[in-house]
Amino acid sequence: MGEANTHYYATRDPLGVTGDFTTAPEISQMFGEIVGAALADCWARAGRPDNALYVELGPGRGTLAADALRVMAKAGLRPAVHFVEASPVLSDFQRQKHPGALWHQGLATIPPGGPLMVVANEFFDALPIRQWVGDEERRVTLKGDDFAFTAIGPIREDSPEREAVAWEIASQLEMRGGVALIVDYGHARTALGDTLQAVRKHHFADVLAEPGEQDLTSHVDFEALARAARAIDIAIDGPVEQGDWLEALGIGQRAAALAEVSPERSAEIVAARTRLRDSGAMGSLFKVMAIRNRDWPMPAGFAR
Ligand code: SAH
Repeated sequence: MGEANTHYYATRDPLGVTGDFTTAPEISQMFGEIVGAALADCWARAGRPDNALYVELGPGRGTLAADALRVMAKAGLRPAVHFVEASPVLSDFQRQKHPGALWHQGLATIPPGGPLMVVANEFFDALPIRQWVGDEERRVTLKGDDFAFTAIGPIREDSPEREAVAWEIASQLEMRGGVALIVDYGHARTALGDTLQAVRKHHFADVLAEPGEQDLTSHVDFEALARAARAIDIAIDGPVEQGDWLEALGIGQRAAALAEVSPERSAEIVAARTRLRDSGAMGSLFKVMAIRNRDWPMPAGFAR
């Protein structure tokens, strides 16, 4: 899964109608704007530290960052921009929109300094998982000329890679302050089940077909991420459903304001809000979880 995805992301831009899948920031500017507003509000309530860094993991085309940073600047927050990105193709897209950013292979090389405002949208789902049938790790083997799985039975998934990143985010936040917003599809509680999936041209595909030519992901186990992060003394908020979070942060008001300025686009704006929010679309499957330094305030949208 790891090698297939490394090749996959290194050799194409997978996003949008002409690609394989569409993400929330590519659906509407409202998504990134709300992420930016949530971070700016949290930063303001933390006392407006003047040396904050914006760190995004897997920034795709750089769209979310552009929308978020525009809103943050209006609130007086103009952080240095750091991107963790493995794909040279997508780094080029990001460079066009963010010429002043700096790129990293991981969090370890983010320079020391102020608190971090971390964003990861549909990043964790792309990191590799393991699957277990009982105590046996399910592996991929050859059956004749075809790939096949070694074990059958009820499947449990875990992901040392994902947990390591969650731990690393937490440890950085504990040391230097700040907050992380993690958005992805997945479940709030660890559960049994096979959630490995392949997507190509906006349709599910056979997970073992053409490795490296289709997007391989699995649902994110937010409880496992939280457990890994809690090895550090930090606070966790959520996860809450993306639809509820966006509504709590005012996507309705933002949609109305955008439609007022561009009435000819109002049907498109309503459709985007519906897609991001409704349970039948992205609203329930996608979750938002925050990791933050204990001295930082809870970001908006998590209070019960
Ligand atoms: N956040 C963007 C893109 C999501 S696609 C959006 O919402 O539109 C996943 C992103 O993570 C891509 O930018 C991909 O190149 C990056 N990525 C995947 N695996 C990675 C890894 N191991 N290290 C760094 N970046 C990775």
